[in-house]
Parts: sequence; structure tokens; C-alpha cells
Amino acid sequence: MFGFRIAAATHIGVARQINQDSYATAPGLVVVADGMGGHRGGEVASAIAAKEMIHRFDLPVLDALVAGVEHANRRILDEAAADPNLHGMGTTVVALGLIEVEDGVALGAINVGDSRMYRLTGNVLEQLTEDHSLVEALVREGRITPAEAEVHPQRNIVTRALGVIEHVEVDSFHFVPKIGDRYLLCSDGLFNEVDAHTIATILATEADPDVATEKLVAAANQGGGRDNITAVIADIVTADEASMPSKPEALANRTVVEVSEPTNEHATVIVDEPLQGAVPKQRWSWRR
Ligand code: MG
Repeated sequence: MFGFRIAAATHIGVARQINQDSYATAPGLVVVADGMGGHRGGEVASAIAAKEMIHRFDLPVLDALVAGVEHANRRILDEAAADPNLHGMGTTVVALGLIEVEDGVALGAINVGDSRMYRLTGNVLEQLTEDHSLVEALVREGRITPAEAEVHPQRNIVTRALGVIEHVEVDSFHFVPKIGDRYLLCSDGLFNEVDAHTIATILATEADPDVATEKLVAAANQGGGRDNITAVIADIVTADEASMPSKPEALANRTVVEVSEPTNEHATVIVDEPLQGAVPKQRWSWRR
């Protein structure tokens, strides 16, 4: 059996007044959400997404991750409609979970927006998700180069997010878990400030995931810290080495999970145990 060794760090950065990123972790599940919208809106939207992903992962299958996104989208739209202060709020969401498939255990993942998931295998870093952003669309159409995208003034514009329309399109993926692989989920406040080579170097040289997440955040702040920064690492380990029990039978009726709060303080919430898979989609990658 496989498990996750999890570490997470979030930081307001040096330019923003509030941290609108949220993350959530549970046995065999990690989530990052980057909220947008004035005043409280963004932080409320990202927290809803993080929590809904955890709550809906009651069966360890890919469909549960997709359902989590759909429920979060619904809730964000409803709460924004009910409270003028929250009008127009939205969020990205990216998540990775241990799921059950016909022939055993797999990794399931979803993505909406421009938060990212990377995988480090040995010294090779791959970006596993495609950004749903204006600049990514322009690169795909050949109108700008990837290098131009990195400094484009409109690189913050997302083309997909939760809280915008009733039926959100969700990218979903399957991966084969491999002991020693390291997955990184992060908000754009990380990769807009830190180049891929530096991210790969930190991930490849810092074995302790807690230290690695802190170093990633520090590098983003050194790079400018113009946005909130969130980095969550899930190392693929054996179930015995996991941060928290990952085997379905090892989970009690209820499980404690950690959900970040916009203040940077961590709240603890109780949710039903996570547990439920489907179809892969994999995109462009690079090697350092
Ligand atoms: Mg951001």
C-alpha cells in the first residue's frame, strides 16, 4: 500500500494585505486553492473549495474529486449570490488523492485554473497540469512564446475558475504511484516568482518535505513575493511511512484534517473519512 508524506506552507507574500490561498490535507488527499475577488471574497471561495474537496472524498475514486469541484462551485455561486460582499468571488483548485482502481491503487488528480501540480522523479521535474489562463491559450495558439508568457502583464487572468458558471469544466488525471516520487501542488505565487530550475533543485535536494515547502516559500518571497504563496508536497511513501493513515481500513469513522485559514493560522476541522478513479489526461512537461 501507498501513502502520502505531506508537508504544506502558505504565506501572504510581501505585497498583499490578505492571504486568499487555502490548502487542505487529509489522509491520501492534498488540495490547493487560490481565491480571487475583492475584500473577503477570494479567501472565502478558496476555503470553500479546500473544504468541499475533503468532504466529498468519502470514497477514494476520481469521481469523488470531480464531485468535490462541482459541489464547491455550486456553493461558491450560492454564497456569492446571497452576500453582496462576496459577489464575484472565485477560486482555482488543484488536488491529488490516492484512489482505488480495478487493479489496485492509483493517484487521481483534478485541476481548474492556474494553480499547478508538478512531479519530481529523480532529477526530472514535470508539470502535470495545464494552466487555464489567457497566456497559456496565447502560447498554445503560437501568439506568444513560453518565455513571453512568464512576464506577460496579463498572466494573472484565468480562463477557468470555480464560481463563474454553473457547469465548471474539470481536468482529471490518473497517475501510477511510485515510491520516491514527489508531488508539488502550488499557487501561482510560487511559480511566477521562482523559475522551474530552482523549484526542481529545491525539491531534489531537500529531502525533508517540511523544509522543502518552507524553502519554496522563501524563494518566492525573495523573487518578489507579489502574490500569496502556497506549496504542498506529497511524497509517495509506503503506508507505514505516511503522514497519516492512508489505508481505508486504518481510518476511523472520522478523521482530523488540516485546513489552512486565510490568516496563515491553521484550523482543524473534522470530516468523514476520505475514500473512491477514472481517466488520464497528461500535458506538456519539461526537463531541467
Ligand atoms: Mg495567486
